[in-house]
Amino acid sequence: MEYNPHRDQYWDEAALSADMQQAFDICNGCRLCYNLCPSFPALFQIVESYDDDAAQVKPAEMDLVADLCFQCKLCYMKCPYIPPHRFDLDFPRLMLRSKAIRAKKNGISRTDRFLGNPEQVGKMGQLAPGIANWSVRNTGLRRLMERIYGIDHRRHLPRFAPVRFTDWVKRHQPAQTPPMDEVDVVLFSTCTVEYHEPGIGQAALEVLRHNGIRAIVPPGQVCCGMPALDGGDIDGALARARSNVELLAPYARAGKPILALQPTCALLLKQDYPTLVESEEAKLIASKTKDVTEYLAEAMRRGKLKKEFQSSPGEVTYHLSCHTKAQGLKRAAKDLLEAIDGCDVEMVERCAGIDGTWGLKAAYYDESIKVSAKLTERFQERHATHACSDCALAGLQIETVTDKEPVHPVEILARSYGLLGGGAS
Ligand code: SF4
Ligand code: SF4
Repeated sequence: MEYNPHRDQYWDEAALSADMQQAFDICNGCRLCYNLCPSFPALFQIVESYDDDAAQVKPAEMDLVADLCFQCKLCYMKCPYIPPHRFDLDFPRLMLRSKAIRAKKNGISRTDRFLGNPEQVGKMGQLAPGIANWSVRNTGLRRLMERIYGIDHRRHLPRFAPVRFTDWVKRHQPAQTPPMDEVDVVLFSTCTVEYHEPGIGQAALEVLRHNGIRAIVPPGQVCCGMPALDGGDIDGALARARSNVELLAPYARAGKPILALQPTCALLLKQDYPTLVESEEAKLIASKTKDVTEYLAEAMRRGKLKKEFQSSPGEVTYHLSCHTKAQGLKRAAKDLLEAIDGCDVEMVERCAGIDGTWGLKAAYYDESIKVSAKLTERFQERHATHACSDCALAGLQIETVTDKEPVHPVEILARSYGLLGGGAS
């Protein structure tokens, strides 16, 4: 099966159809993923509707299955037939390929164009954050936005921060580009942190500084490209990936770890940049990228993190996001939080059903809420505890249902160290 958009075979509709048919046959025989997401029940229902086992699934049915995939990657983690198995099955990437071919053929939809460009949205919101935040809470305007851009009016959207993260950095980090030997780590800040959640970046910088780790935020970073990829916009994702690779390559060549502040972006840099950009630099960047919780947990294991805290958050309900799990990280954030005296962590390992942009769309909002039911139920039950998630988008889902706003693990760490003013709450 073909997963590399630089090869002609990737864009060949007949080849895609044959690969999809083969994948459907394999999955139908396996059925291990029957309850992971809406894609698989739809797939099995389609296959069962055919009397003849050898019947070819129709293109519209293939599109339906692909459109119900929101790239959580849970099936990939479970699947015994991923490359290098001879079946060569990477179900999520196959679904992306289906979207990419349709986007190329029919054009990128207005919704995907809007959601695929978080920088433009972020910059627009930053012109007048107060008005922008009022607008995203105004039901009438949200219904209009739903009609124009297809974003469900019930979905809580990220708030626009009064100050962009990089503007805050400029004020607090005198040397923007210090000599390489004065840099220990590089932050890949992500659009979420840049425009909506600068507190995560500030907390990460404070925690690193407190532990004697010199971090920089190189100016000129762009979106990782995942939202564009989600909408099938391969060119948009590729342009952003190339730009970030060019910016980060000198640091990777100098052996500096690159810390991504959001799990989806970390995953893309680690797993997709080498295929998207096809260069030695992209491979190097993939190998040097770490989720910020991953880096801090490793530092803690090596005895490089201070264990003296000024306060404790007490009970924390922590959501382990799918894209954190897909990086092979099951315990990083939990270990960090449990290093704080008196911090009792319950980890909820359930899909938030929003990965990327899928759960924001009106067409999938109800499905998305259903997928996340077990996760949000647990957060409701533990409403009195501190809510925590390393994924801001998953946090939105939790907030939409429970009205509780989860914070990132580094924010809890920073507060517990007494670095952000105020206690752990
Ligand atoms: S990546 Fe997630 S949403 Fe997509 S098919 Fe796999 S389990 Fe379903
Ligand atoms: S993706 Fe893999 S594990 Fe899941 S149903 Fe298909 S073959 Fe089975």
